[in-house]
Amino acid sequence: MYCPQCRAEFREGFTRCSDCGIELVEVLPPVAPNSSEPAENERPDLASARYFLAWFVPMCVYLLLLFAYSFRPVLFRNIFITVLFISLHIAEVLGMFWMMYQAVRHERRFGRYALLAMVPFMFVWYSLVRVPLRKEFESDSPFIR
Ligand SMILES: [Zn+2]
Repeated sequence: MYCPQCRAEFREGFTRCSDCGIELVEVLPPVAPNSSEPAENERPDLASARYFLAWFVPMCVYLLLLFAYSFRPVLFRNIFITVLFISLHIAEVLGMFWMMYQAVRHERRFGRYALLAMVPFMFVWYSLVRVPLRKEFESDSPFIR
């Protein structure tokens, strides 16, 4: 038995909380979230799906264009496809160097993040997921500098 107000547990046979004087319940109701932000953090499934797509979609387009460039170079007579590919490629290379710099500068185990940076557009995931996490724990974690 639990008190719904102070959330204290009581042995069987008690019906009222000795402190609050209110009726005890079998099952405690879930804690109401104080604000929307922690509630969002409790749903990593939603957040990670969004962040996953932010990385996955540009990576797929980039790889597709890379394959197209190898097997069907005719496609690149289309100026739109060429410009798209070059833009993605520049973003990819800049992002890779940015992520490597971030890894060497801030991560204690920078090897894995430097390796991850090789994956096309992994820097999108890094900037969305890892950087906020890093900033949150920067002050009191021995693992993140
Ligand atoms: Zn109570």
